[in-house]
This record gives sequence, C-alpha cells and structure tokens, in this order.
Amino acid sequence: MRLLLVEDEEKVARFIQRGLEAERFAVDVAADGSRALALATSYSYDLIILDLMLPEQSGTEVLRQIRGRDKQVPVLILTARDELRDKVQHFEMGADDYLTKPFAFAELLVRIKALLRRGVVNQTYGRVNVLQVADLELDRLTQQVKRAGQRIELTVKEYALLEYLMLNVDRVLSRTMIIEHVWDQSFDGATNIVDVYVRHLRNKVDEAHEHKLIRTVRGVGYAISDEEET
Ligand code: CA
Repeated sequence: MRLLLVEDEEKVARFIQRGLEAERFAVDVAADGSRALALATSYSYDLIILDLMLPEQSGTEVLRQIRGRDKQVPVLILTARDELRDKVQHFEMGADDYLTKPFAFAELLVRIKALLRRGVVNQTYGRVNVLQVADLELDRLTQQVKRAGQRIELTVKEYALLEYLMLNVDRVLSRTMIIEHVWDQSFDGATNIVDVYVRHLRNKVDEAHEHKLIRTVRGVGYAISDEEET
C-alpha cells in the first residue's frame, strides 16, 4: 500500500517514514501543502497522514482541498493541538482519525491499520482486502501471501510489487507504472530494477507450480493473470 505523509518537521517525517517502510508501506513525504496536493492529484494513495501545522497553507486547507476531489481516501490528522473544537471541525470536514503529538509509533500504526481495515480504500481498488488470482492469495491486512495454501515469505518490495500486480489482474503494467507505484517518488534508479524484482517474485510464486501466473508482455511490461498464456 502507498501512503502520503504530509509533515514539515523533517525529523518527525523521517521517523514516521522509516517506521512505515519497515511495515511494508511505500511512503511519499510532502513538507508543505502545495506539494501534498500535487502528489495527491498525481497518485492514488491508500491513506494520507496530514499534519495540521504546516508552512503556507494549513493542514486544514489541505484537507478541504483533498476532500473536494476524493471523498474516499482515509485521512489521519496529526497535530500538536488537542482542543476538542479542532477535532470536531476536522471530523466534520472529512478527517477519519486524529492523533495528538507526541505519540508512540505503535499507536500511529494501530490507527493506520484500523482505518485500512474499514475497507475504505480508494475507488480504484474497492473494498477488497484479500486479493486472489487462481490459487494465489494475498491478504492486504495481515500481509500474508499463500499459494495453494502454502505461505510464501516476501521482502517488502516483492510484496508491494505482487500487491500492485494483483490489484490490476489481467492488466499489463509498464515498468514506469510499477516503479511509480511500488517505489516511492524519491526513487531515481534504473527501470531494470523492476525486471530484477519480477525475477525474484517468479522464483517464489511461480517456480514450484506448473501454472504460471506472472506474465511478461514483451516491450510493454508485466501482468498477473489466471488465463492460459497464448
Ligand atoms: Ca508541523
């Protein structure tokens, strides 16, 4: 899953980003409102973490604009203020949860998982938490992957790649699309990293099975499909 973190304090942002990446989320960080809105317009995030005290545009204004175009994406507000009045105002504006600084990372994580569990992910993906292609299953909440009932251990990036393929079953995804979704926007490496990770994924997912699910579409990219290859 891909999250947008809007936080201007670099230390706090890095702390949250590192923790979430260890939990297998891809995390984009925006240090101000205009960057946040630009990213929220370009990418489809599974959840947005929004600090209220931002330079220039306030988090409140950012929330208003995000909700103006996307009613679905869960928004978790972070703030140093804890007045009831603010909470009510932001809930009315469409925030889904609220966390007062300072907080323990474990609490942030619990709240994020609770919001994602509600199944209010975005319109593209619908409310599905368990993805399935043939006998391959991926549970987006427990992050467990099984093929024919056997647990498969994946690295963070392998998991994110498989999740993205399975969210787009039967659809060919270009290397650029995969990089944009699975790696965060700070990634500036070569696109052949995708080929390397697809190879790893095939070894774990398809190697031991006669029915191969991951497809290479020459000159275009990759897809996952239950259909027989033609
Ligand atoms: Ca701040």
